Amino acid sequence: MKTIWKLILGTILLISACKSKDGDYTLFSTSEDLALGEKVAGQIENDPINFPILSENDNKELYQHLNRISGKILQSSKILHREEFAWQLKVIDNDTLYNAFCTPGGYIYVYSGLIKFVQSEDELAGILAHEIAHGDLRHSTDQMTKTYGIKVLTNLILGGESELLTNMGINLLGLKFSRSDEEEADEFAVKYLSDTDYNPRSFAVFFERMEQAGGSMGPLQFLSTHPNPENRVQKIEAFWKEYGSKSGKDHSENFEKLQRSLK
Ligand SMILES: [Zn+2]
Repeated sequence: MKTIWKLILGTILLISACKSKDGDYTLFSTSEDLALGEKVAGQIENDPINFPILSENDNKELYQHLNRISGKILQSSKILHREEFAWQLKVIDNDTLYNAFCTPGGYIYVYSGLIKFVQSEDELAGILAHEIAHGDLRHSTDQMTKTYGIKVLTNLILGGESELLTNMGINLLGLKFSRSDEEEADEFAVKYLSDTDYNPRSFAVFFERMEQAGGSMGPLQFLSTHPNPENRVQKIEAFWKEYGSKSGKDHSENFEKLQRSLK
C-alpha cells in the first residue's frame, strides 16, 4: 500500500510540475543518473536466475572484443557524458533472447542471443552505439521517471524503496522507449559510428534483417522495447548520408574471433 501511495504521489508531482521544456521528464543530475544505474545494475547482478551474467574472468576474450568495440564508440566527440557515466558492458547468457538495454548512468547489458544474431561487427557496433545513445542522452532516465515518478526514484537513490528495487531489473525489461527517443538514439548511433572505422549503414542492415525475420518471435524482441520509428531503415540511411556516408573497414576476422569466444 505504501508503495502505491508513493507511486501516486510521484505521478501527481510529475504531472503537476515536472515536464521540462523539450517534453522530457529528467530532472535528475548526471550523478543521480549514475547512482540510479548503480542500484539497478546491483539488482541485476544479484539475480542470476533472471540475469545469468557471463563472468569477465571466464570470458576474457569475449569481453576484450566487446570493450574494444564500445571503447571506439565512446571516443566519439558526440558523447556528452564520457567521464561521468560508468559505461560498463555485460553479457547475459541467454541465447533465446535477442535484446540489449542500458540503465541510467551507462550500465549496458547485451543478451548472448543478440550477439549470435548479428552478422557483422559493424551491426553489433550499431546496437552498442544505440544503447550508449539511450544512456548518454538520458532516455533511460526519462523512461524510468515516466514509469515510476520522481519521488520513487529519488527514494531509490537515497537507499529506500527496496520493494521496488526487487523487481526493478525485470520491470526494466518491459519498459518501452518512445518512438522519438528511438529515432534520436538511431541518429546518435550513426553520429558516433561516423567517428569510428565502422560502417554506420550496417545498423540499417540489422533492422532490415529483423523486419524480414517478421513472424518469428526471437528477432522481434529488440523491437518490443525499442519500437520502430516510421521508416526506420530509410531514416538510418538518410542519417548515414548526412554524416558522411562512411563505409568503414573490414572487421570480419575480429568478428569471427568474437563469435567463437562466445560459447
Ligand atoms: Zn532503443
